[in-house]
This record gives sequence, structure tokens and C-alpha cells, in this order.
Amino acid sequence: MNAKSRFSIVLFGSPGSGKGTQAELIAKKYNLEHISTGDLFRNELANETELGLKAKSIMEQGHLCPDDITLNMLYQHIQKLEPDKGVILDGVPRTIQQAEMMQGVNFEHVIPVSIVIYLNVDREVVIQRMLKRAKLQNRADDTPETIEKRLENYEISTAPLKSYYAKKGILFEVQGMHSIDNTFKQICEIIDLQLKK
Ligand code: AMP
Repeated sequence: MNAKSRFSIVLFGSPGSGKGTQAELIAKKYNLEHISTGDLFRNELANETELGLKAKSIMEQGHLCPDDITLNMLYQHIQKLEPDKGVILDGVPRTIQQAEMMQGVNFEHVIPVSIVIYLNVDREVVIQRMLKRAKLQNRADDTPETIEKRLENYEISTAPLKSYYAKKGILFEVQGMHSIDNTFKQICEIIDLQLKK
């Protein structure tokens, strides 16, 4: 795999910021592979693999899975794709350590990041969205207690990625408070501009 030739977008934001919905739309419009590490973990869980069983209680408690397990799972998945297929990464990296591993620090593989799109949504809106999703999708980790834990983990472990990628000059912020269409329009403007470069 020539990982360096892949166009890859990281969609980044708190749980409930609308990453999954936007990632689907982006993948369709730009013919990218949508990769959600949350979905990959849920798939492992559904298949009751060793990895899935390891991740189960961690996920149910709203904690983050270990960085090395997450990155190895991601890498195995990306490797199966066509070499030039671009990807949209939804929910990874979620720690600075994961971002460094994706650059090849203490990890033998490189998972390139072309641009990072940050979905900015207020905490109150995010909580309401997640409670609604809990009712609709019956996700085991969308209970009020886990939501609180996941948001706390986001603030501590994931939010620092904002300045990490801003320093690299590849962070683009989008206001995700309004409609799905409005957010998607902002994202497309950013991607179109990058693709022209
Ligand atoms: P998500 O669907 O993206 O909210 O992910 C659901 C759960 O899967 C998270 O709460 C974590 O337990 C786990 N997970 C997903 N992606 C990652 C990641 N990049 N690093 C660590 N844990 C993850």
C-alpha cells in the first residue's frame, strides 16, 4: 500500500457533533471510503471477536479504547482498500498519541492526514442530540451517564487535537449548530478549495 498517495480527511468533533452524518454525505459526494472506528469496534463486538470482547466494557463505560488496538484495527481495515481510494476518517484520531502514531511515531505504518475538519457544536446541543439518538438507535453507550463520561473524555483527550492540527496548518473549522445541509455546504467549500490546490 502506498499510503502517502491517499487523500484523507479527518472529521473531528465531540460525540454527537454530527460526524457520522456528515461523513456519509462527504463519502458519497467525493467517492471516499467512510471509516468510523466506532463502527469498526461495534462490528468486532457484534462478531464477538477477541478484540470486540476486549472493547465491549470499555465502550459501554464511555471510555476510549487503547491507542495501539485502535490504530492496528484501523490499519488492517485501510490495507484492504484500493491503494488510491481516498478516505474520510470519522472518530479517529481521538488522542494526540493516535495522531502521532498515524504519522509513524512509535508505529510502523503511516496513515496520512490531508485535512482536518472540525465540527464545532455547543455542549448543550450535543447532549440533546445524543439523548435523541439513544432513543432512536438504542446505542448502549448513549445513556445519560456515559454521555457525560464521553464528553469528559473528549475534553481531556480529544479536544487538544484542535491546536495540534491548527499548528500544522491543516485544521478547518465548521459551525455544526445549524442544519445538516448548512454544515455540509461549509464542509464542501473547504474540500473543494483543497482539491483545487
Ligand atoms: P463513536 O461511535 O465514534 O462515538 O465510538 C464509540 C466508542 O468506540 C467510543 O466511545 C470508544 O469507546 C470507541 N472508539 C471509537 N473510536 C475510537 C478511537 N479512535 N480511539 C479510542 N476509542 C475509540
